[in-house]
Amino acid sequence: MSSTKLTPVPAPARTPRSEDELAQLPASERIRWRLVAANCRHHANDNIASFIQDGEIAELKAEVQEKMHEVLRALVIDTDNDHNTQETAKRVAKMFVEEVFRGRYQPMPAVTEFPNAERLNELMIVGPITVRSACSHHFCPIFGKVWIGILPNEHSNLIGLSKYARICDWVMSRPQIQEEAVTMLADELMQRVRPDGLAIVMEADHFCMHWRGVKDTDSAMVNSVMRGAFLKDANLRREFLSLLPRKTD
Ligand SMILES: [Zn+2]
Repeated sequence: MSSTKLTPVPAPARTPRSEDELAQLPASERIRWRLVAANCRHHANDNIASFIQDGEIAELKAEVQEKMHEVLRALVIDTDNDHNTQETAKRVAKMFVEEVFRGRYQPMPAVTEFPNAERLNELMIVGPITVRSACSHHFCPIFGKVWIGILPNEHSNLIGLSKYARICDWVMSRPQIQEEAVTMLADELMQRVRPDGLAIVMEADHFCMHWRGVKDTDSAMVNSVMRGAFLKDANLRREFLSLLPRKTD
């Protein structure tokens, strides 16, 4: 008989520590301390860039690599002799921190806003924007497309078309839940562009549905968020939806 031994995780104390004391801790604990002290939510799909200091991304990556190595050992994979997995912990750590989940650790991409000098007030549609994300439940990929409809008014800020894709990518490069992802994207765009109306439709394929579980190969999830004029005006909503290309399958 053997019992699973888990390393006890110390409960976070409530008293804030000084940065000198924090320096003794691993980077992840240090960053967590700052988040807790600021009473800041840090779920999988939250951006925590403003709590990370210079050099700490490299430290985080090293920590994830070390823990990932333990995961491989727990899976009873002989990483010493299996040449295929010798560098896996390192690759996965880099992939999580710098690539697929970088939207948690990197600040929002710089976006220049322009005043609406031409007083544009017609429906504008941006898309399809390719979405590459991962589900918070299984860390399995999510691939899909997003369409954004904007109804500007004379006070709206305009941003370049490519910036919609940059902001979308930043929000999606985190462990996400599709419904929350579209809401987060809508919040970011409302705040920046301040349009009369905003509509977002996301259609995505969740690989946890193919690879595991029900192994359903044809399911895609579609959801939408409507704000402002799109909520009140059924014709506008219809116009937006009618302009989206028909589903490919
Ligand atoms: Zn999943």
